Amino acid sequence: MANDNSAPVSASGLRLSGEPLQIIRATTKEEEEKTLHVFELDEEKLEKVLLDPRIQEKKVVVVSVAGAFRKGKSFLLDFFLRYLSAEGQPDWLGDDDSPMEGFTWRGGSERETTGILLWSEPFICKTPSGEEVAVLLMDTQGAFDSESTVRDCATIFALSTMLSSVQVFNLTHNIQEDDLQHLQLFTEYGRLALEDNDNVSKPFQCLMFLVRDWSFPYESPYGVAGGRKVLEKRLQISDKQHQELKQIRQHIRSCFEEISCFLLPHPGLNVATNPHFEGKLKDIEREFKDQLRVLIPLLLDPDNLIVKEINGSKVTCRDLMEYFKAYIKIYQG
Ligand code: GDP
Ligand code: MG
Repeated sequence: MANDNSAPVSASGLRLSGEPLQIIRATTKEEEEKTLHVFELDEEKLEKVLLDPRIQEKKVVVVSVAGAFRKGKSFLLDFFLRYLSAEGQPDWLGDDDSPMEGFTWRGGSERETTGILLWSEPFICKTPSGEEVAVLLMDTQGAFDSESTVRDCATIFALSTMLSSVQVFNLTHNIQEDDLQHLQLFTEYGRLALEDNDNVSKPFQCLMFLVRDWSFPYESPYGVAGGRKVLEKRLQISDKQHQELKQIRQHIRSCFEEISCFLLPHPGLNVATNPHFEGKLKDIEREFKDQLRVLIPLLLDPDNLIVKEINGSKVTCRDLMEYFKAYIKIYQG
């Protein structure tokens, strides 16, 4: 992609290479008055990424951002791309005038498709032990707005939870009871699919609730500490609670090895409402940028990267290709 003139220029002046690839798609077909749910894996596209000779034997880190449409996932992922492209330079956030690029830049017509997108270019990072790992970014989206989309969505989210080492669950304003219900649904779909799990290790690795537009910093401050406070309150189990609420909380806790929460401020009215907003840093609130400087290294600094594990073993890109094929089959039957 080095001589691709259409590639956007990254914050650091380097060309950002790559594009979002739709690798899994949920579609519905009407057949004999029945609605069939079809999940398709684009093996060819995925192989180009995962079987690239530069990375196929390397261990893989998969960071997924999942949630409903139009909630700022692509916008956030574009900052992930900036961070990873900067390879440790302190000014990774970029200069005031460079417009946003990446997932938003080429989102195009795929934007509103329930499915999983993968950034085509892996980032090779060196962990503290000196090992090189491949970092992949995943965008998972769908809508829980009707009975049939709830099912598609739960399946897609289950797949991305099964295939990622870190799942960022992107929410607006707060962690609501129905967010927890959806989470329970898709982790249940995932857990059932992983039946051969040894029952000793938890089926999934890290979950981060990311609350956008948090507006009570005086109660719980932005960032991880405030997030912990909100999370403890929301996942609290007490005797007074209804059985169902208790079960949801127990279930969620039992599914992930680690659960955290991060509270992000509102990025400002330019980002939220200006139709001509291009993602220039000068149009984004300082407080938001300050918190991005905390959040993103937390997920993507080489010291904090979490290699994908399945049944207790670390997984390479080549292994992951096989897991994609095996997992999609479960939901195609
Ligand atoms: P996606 O569909 O979840 O990927 O959402 P996008 O990243 O495409 O963003 C949808 C809209 O929300 C765009 O107009 C963004 O500028 C805006 N946006 C991005 N981040 C935020 C945020 O944290 N809060 C608010 N209120 N709007 C945001
Ligand atoms: Mg998007």
